[in-house]
Amino acid sequence: MESQQVQKKIDEMIAAGIKIPSPPAIAVRILNAVQQDEPSLSDLAKIISSDPALTAKLLKVANSGFYSLKYEVPSIEKALTVLGVNVLKNIALSFVIAKEMNEPAEQGFDFDYFWRRSITFAVASELLAKEINFQSDDTFVTALLTDIGVLILHQAMPEAYLSILEEKKHSSEMTTELETRILGLNHAEMGSGILERWDLPAGIYLPIRYHHSPERASEQYQPAADLLQIADRLSAIYNDPNSGERVRQLQDELNERFNLSEDQITELIDAIASRSVEILATFDIDSGDIKPYSQMLQEANEELGRLNLSYEQLIMELKESKTETDRLAAEVREANTKLRELVFRDGLTGLYNHRYFQEMVDKEIDRFDRYNSCFALIMFDIDFFKKVNDNYGHPSGDQVLLNIAQTIQKAVRPSDIVARYGGEEFAVIMPEANESGLKIFAERLRRSVEQMSTLVGNKELKVTISVGGTCCLPSSGKLDKKTIIDTADRALYASKHGGRNCTTILPLGK
Ligand code: GH3
Ligand code: MG
Ligand code: MG
Repeated sequence: MESQQVQKKIDEMIAAGIKIPSPPAIAVRILNAVQQDEPSLSDLAKIISSDPALTAKLLKVANSGFYSLKYEVPSIEKALTVLGVNVLKNIALSFVIAKEMNEPAEQGFDFDYFWRRSITFAVASELLAKEINFQSDDTFVTALLTDIGVLILHQAMPEAYLSILEEKKHSSEMTTELETRILGLNHAEMGSGILERWDLPAGIYLPIRYHHSPERASEQYQPAADLLQIADRLSAIYNDPNSGERVRQLQDELNERFNLSEDQITELIDAIASRSVEILATFDIDSGDIKPYSQMLQEANEELGRLNLSYEQLIMELKESKTETDRLAAEVREANTKLRELVFRDGLTGLYNHRYFQEMVDKEIDRFDRYNSCFALIMFDIDFFKKVNDNYGHPSGDQVLLNIAQTIQKAVRPSDIVARYGGEEFAVIMPEANESGLKIFAERLRRSVEQMSTLVGNKELKVTISVGGTCCLPSSGKLDKKTIIDTADRALYASKHGGRNCTTILPLGK
C-alpha cells in the first residue's frame, strides 16, 4: 500500500471516530529541532536537558557497552558531539515514544512483552547492522518502532484487535493478512502511517512499512527493510520459545548472505542477549530471564548430562539395592533353615528331636489314612547306659550317644526318619515298611550297635541296645498315635525283660 492509500485509510478511521494517538510533545520538539536545515546542537541539548529523567537515560545508553566509547561522556552536549545529532535524536525518540506508548489502558495486551520484544529487536538490528557494515543512524529507532502499529491498532480498536490475536492462535493465515482482511490495513502500514504523520523521516517509516515484505520496498529502503526482517528472526531466539529449531537455519543464512563466520554469528547472537539486558534496564523494562544463547545451550547440555548421570546412578543404585535385597533374602533363608534345624534337631547327636518325631508320626498316619500305605516304628534304648556314665563319665556317655546316632544314620534308608526320643532312647520311622522288612532292619540295627565300639581315651567302649518295633498295615484299621508308640515301647521293654541286646516285634495294639 502506498503512503497516500495508507493515510486515506487512517483518515477514514479517524472519521469513523477511532482515536489515533498524537505524537508525544517532547518528540515533536526534538524532531523540529533537528529538522532545521542546520540542526543546532545546543537546541537539541536544551530540549533533552529539560527532562532530567530522559537526560539520565540518554547518558546511560551513551556510556553503555552499546557504543563502546573510549571515554565516559558526562553531559548531553558531549554525547551530541561524540555520537552525533542523529544518533542522540533517535535514542531520545525511542525513549520518549516508548514511555508515552507504555500505558496499559486496555486489558488483554501484554505491554511488557511488547516492549521487551521491541527492544531486543532494536538491539539485534543495531548489532547486525554493525556486523554487516550497514551504515545508518536510524536502525535502532526504526526497529524499536517497527511494531508500533500493533500497539496503535490495539489501543484504537481493542476488541477488534484482540479478536484478531485470538483468531491468529487457530489460523495459519499471517497476522498481516488477518489485519488487512478484518481492519483494512495491517500493523506495518498503520505504524508507518502514524510515524509519517508524526513527521518522522522516511528512512524510518518506509522500512517499517515493508518489514514483512522487503521485496516490495523501493530500492533505497529495501536493505533497511531486509535488515529488519533478519533482525526480527534473530531477536525471536530470545522472544519466541519455539524458535529453537530455526536457529540453525538462520545461522546458515547469515553465513551465506553476509559471509559471517560461525564464531561471528555466535558472538552476535550472544551479544543480543547481554546488550538487551543493559538497554532494557535503561527503559525500565524487566528483562525476564534473557541470557546468551550459547549459555542456554550450555545449560541445556549440562542439564542433559546431569539427567544422564542421575539415570545411570539410579540404575546403579537399583542394582546395588537388588544385590543387597538378594543377599538379605539369602540370609533370611539361611536363618530360617538354621532356626528349623534348631527347632527340629537334637543338639548333641544331630538327629531329629522328639518334637519332629511326633510331627512325622502324625504325617505317616495321614499318609496311611489317605493312601493306605503301611509304615513301621522302631524304638530302642541303650542297655545299662547308666553304668557307662558312672564308669567313664558323662562326656564319654555323650560320645557313645553320638557314635550310635552316626551308626544308625548310616544303616537306614534316606526315607527313614531317625530321632532321639529322649535320653538314651531312640526311634526310627520307616515309611512303606512291612513286617518282614521291619524284622530284618531291627535286627540289623541291633547288630550294628553290637559291633560298634567307641574309643574313649585308650579304651574301646562297647554297648548294646534293646529294640522294639511294630508295624502299621492296611489291616490295622483306624490308627491311633498313642497306640502305635505304646506298642513299640512295650516291645522295647519286652526286649529288656527278655535279656536285653535283642529285638521284639509286636502286632499293633498288642
Ligand atoms: P536299662 O538297660 O534298663 O535301660 O538301664 P539304663 O542304665 O540304661 O537305664 P536308666 O534309665 O536307669 O538310665 C539311663 C541313663 O542314661 C541315665 C542318664 O544319666 C543317662 N543319660 C540320659 N541322657 C543322657 C545324655 O544325654 N548323656 C549322657 N552321657 N547320659 C545320658
Ligand atoms: Mg537304658
Ligand atoms: Mg532309658
